[in-house]
Amino acid sequence: MGCGGFIGCHLLKAIFERTSWRVFGVDLESYRIQEHLANDRFEFLCADLADAAVVERIVRYPVVVNLAAICTPGRYMAEAAEVIRSNYDHPRALADACAKSGSWLIHFSTSEIYGKTAADSSALEEDSSEIVLGPVTASRWSYATAKLLTERYMAGLAGLNWTVVRPFNFVGPFMDFMPGVDGEGIPRVLANFSTALVRGESLKLVNGGVAKRCFTSVHDAVDFVFCLFAKADKGVGQAFNVGNVDNEVSIAELAGLMRSVFASVKGKPENDVPGVEVVSGEDYYGKGYDDSLRRLPSVAKAENLLGFMAKIPLKEAIEESLRWFVGHYVDAC
Ligand code: UDP
Repeated sequence: MGCGGFIGCHLLKAIFERTSWRVFGVDLESYRIQEHLANDRFEFLCADLADAAVVERIVRYPVVVNLAAICTPGRYMAEAAEVIRSNYDHPRALADACAKSGSWLIHFSTSEIYGKTAADSSALEEDSSEIVLGPVTASRWSYATAKLLTERYMAGLAGLNWTVVRPFNFVGPFMDFMPGVDGEGIPRVLANFSTALVRGESLKLVNGGVAKRCFTSVHDAVDFVFCLFAKADKGVGQAFNVGNVDNEVSIAELAGLMRSVFASVKGKPENDVPGVEVVSGEDYYGKGYDDSLRRLPSVAKAENLLGFMAKIPLKEAIEESLRWFVGHYVDAC
């Protein structure tokens, strides 16, 4: 489910390259997976989880990977109810159906479930960190609240074989969209900064860009899923952080790195690349915006149980993403 999205397209490609498995994939979009549509090991259905008949078809398979979600930050404030339907109601129905059919449900949640973390917070542990989500008026937390409730529902559902994956800021080709070209609203920071660079506009640092994130290559994320497939017995009934602790940077530092990578991709001096501009969270995203100031995963559980450790350094991940973005949207400006 969600095979046509950012993570799904990379996972699908890896499955066809590394295995001989057959895949039934469902999504509302297919532009990222055009190259697989004629593959006779792939059956694609253009649909979403709101349709109970689609859910019934999905759970005929022994392993179900759910990547479907509304995960566009700009929508968490303006469309909180729809965000909650997509991130709680639909996955809950899928979990119920998997519990009945006996399918193993690998559900992609989010590192955002750790909520409003402080600048000096320590590494986030899957099974022991306390979670503070902001007040209901801070509707930024609509997404995290729905994802967290889904996790709790799955963990409490009798008969369900589940695994939860909590991505820490995955980046790579095909991530998000360019506003006004193939999507509307405000995507995540990588797509925003890439768009600004390509359009020659300033990079907007929300509240000064002091928040920190551990950007993780989507290729590491795919490798994690293969480690999980290989050690299913260790992964069932567990939630895993998937992130790269060596790649922690502030958003202001990320802007600096992206400016310098963009200058080298374009063969320009850095002075000719757009600069940064500080904006307030509410002005930029709208009323109800709030933030996590640090999101550092503990990665010991994935290493100890599954032998997984993210490897791709920040600069390599950013350079691959930015080169892809520049090439993909070359005619869009
Ligand atoms: N951010 C920013 N400028 C942008 C987009 C995002 O400064 O154009 C900040 C945002 O406020 C947050 C961080 O970058 O502190 C990461 O935001 P994103 O939406 O990518 O994902 P999050 O990790 O918050 O889920």
